Amino acid sequence: MEHIADLDAIAATERFGHADPATVHDVLAEVGRFMAEVVAPTNRDGDTIGATWHDDGTVTLPDSFKPAYTKWVESGYGAMPFDPDYGGAGFPWITAIAVQEMLTSANMALSLCPLLTQGAIEAIHVHGSDAQKATYLPKMLTGEWTGTMNLTEPQAGSDVGAVSTKAQPRADGSWAISGQKIFITWGEHDVADNIVHLVLARTPGSPPGTRGISMFVVPKYLVGADGSLGDRNAATCVSIEHKLGIHGSPTCVMSYDDAIGWLVGGEHEGMRNMFTMMNNARLSVGLEGLCISERAFQQALQYAQEREQGRAVGAPAGTSSPIIDHPDVRRMLVTQRAWIDGMRALIYTNASALDRATAAKAAGDADEALRWQELADLLIPLSKGLCTDVGNEMTSLALQVHGGMGYVEETGAAQHYRDARIAAIYEGTNGIQAADLVSRKLGMRSGGVVTELLDEFGHRADSLDTDGGMGAFGERLRAAVADARAATEHLVRTAADDPRSLLSSSSPYLRLLGTTVCAGLLAKGALSVAAEDEFGVAKRASAKFFGEQILPTVAGLLPAITADAGALYELEPAQLATR
Ligand SMILES: Cc1cc2nc3c(=O)[nH]c(=O)nc-3n(C[C@H](O)[C@H](O)[C@H](O)COP(=O)(O)OP(=O)(O)OC[C@H]3O[C@@H](n4cnc5c(N)ncnc54)[C@H](O)[C@@H]3O)c2cc1C
Repeated sequence: MEHIADLDAIAATERFGHADPATVHDVLAEVGRFMAEVVAPTNRDGDTIGATWHDDGTVTLPDSFKPAYTKWVESGYGAMPFDPDYGGAGFPWITAIAVQEMLTSANMALSLCPLLTQGAIEAIHVHGSDAQKATYLPKMLTGEWTGTMNLTEPQAGSDVGAVSTKAQPRADGSWAISGQKIFITWGEHDVADNIVHLVLARTPGSPPGTRGISMFVVPKYLVGADGSLGDRNAATCVSIEHKLGIHGSPTCVMSYDDAIGWLVGGEHEGMRNMFTMMNNARLSVGLEGLCISERAFQQALQYAQEREQGRAVGAPAGTSSPIIDHPDVRRMLVTQRAWIDGMRALIYTNASALDRATAAKAAGDADEALRWQELADLLIPLSKGLCTDVGNEMTSLALQVHGGMGYVEETGAAQHYRDARIAAIYEGTNGIQAADLVSRKLGMRSGGVVTELLDEFGHRADSLDTDGGMGAFGERLRAAVADARAATEHLVRTAADDPRSLLSSSSPYLRLLGTTVCAGLLAKGALSVAAEDEFGVAKRASAKFFGEQILPTVAGLLPAITADAGALYELEPAQLATR
């Protein structure tokens, strides 16, 4: 039987044959214990103590962070998905995502350090020279050295093409990097021996915009031929940001002052190469929406069973009921549970598609590889955009379940709400994800990749009808597929002629398509589990709720998608302030 993300099929490929589901399950059970015992207890320190910048440019983390991070390094979990030639285990990405899910639920701020490291590993592995790979990858795979991603500058946020950091060639083939980068996650810290910065900069005479950007590897400490750490490079953290959440993740202003760096890949290929890292990171940031929702939900569920208020309908007179017995509280909890299942289905299917593409490529089947890569590429903006938006909504609901105790810091519900907020902003804001969806991903085979998926969901809706236990899910899925198809066809038709309207439809389209994809995948899951056992009963009830009660909420988005941008521009900015 085919499960949602189909680990069995991944393990059946030659490339990932060693990742049989039984082994993976054993490893993940062990990882779960590790995260619960070692990492989760550090979460509160991260929030209340946070990162501290010192006058000498050093940054310290709470005392509990380094021991937990050191144990993470010793565990070897960070190396699971990477190339065995550099110390990895060559496991599929989907297993790394599962490890990352537990790490991020345990401590999102701390998880950002391995997240950025992973992305940097990927970029160096794909685009770096053999010498660069040999120098950096083994220590980065273990986590002894960490990685960063340096795109953002004060004038270059969403518009990465505006980057102005300079790279001047040096006689020995290296480059002198000068400029200021802002918002650099884990740009400086005290939990590892070296930090490998990947920095976007311009070489002399480069063309303007993204075409003129190159990528450089700039280590905090220069590395000798024997791998030993040498001189301190001129890459300094000049301050860190004070921010709404993820206080345990240092967000650094980095100053590069003729820092020594080396070109990664070709000159002017930096933007393309950074995308290797960004795609990877976008999936991981989408995962954050899921992880923080899961943690917030677990806490809300427990609180709702302990807190008593009022008498629920049907409870004996004179008693007070746990708030979970009130239908409105129950709705909040069931909604969280259903969305968490939906997000997990989306994220793991995305990771699975990446693995299937890798496996097909390794087997020399280019057509199959392209098919899976197209699916993965389509799902990336959905995973990132939808799951991080929903992460904000679900952490808000979890807080609401706590009533006033959610608003005060004591319960920790507020931390989840604050921590979740960033995920919709970094790694390309969700507005940029929506633009990517309609401008690039929708265009793949003129909408063909989307319609193929919708066709699959249409057939699945019919299977839901014949299942007998799924209520109106089949009917609602068919309706959502019809809306998503109408929206897709409309956008493909108007894309070339009316780019402004295409972009004005982008966010509602992402919501409609993303929610439909979650429902289509949950349907797959509901149809694949045994209807009788405890797991199956829970999965099917959750999927049915999603299909019957959450999915229909996006039907109202179609008018916003098919409308042109006119209504958004009817008022001049000054008129928007008119009261
Ligand atoms: C805590 C934190 C950690 C970060 N970590 C890193 C990091 O490690 N490395 C790094 O390089 N950067 C990092 N960033 C930067 C982050 O990626 C940027 O903040 C983000 O890309 C948005 O850029 P901006 O802040 O300049 O916002 P702006 O680009 O000014 O955007 C403002 C608003 O305008 C919208 N907008 C802008 N342009 C468009 C467009 N073309 N179409 C539609 N909407 C648009 C945006 O969606 C947003 O709503 C981090 C930021 C934070 C806050």
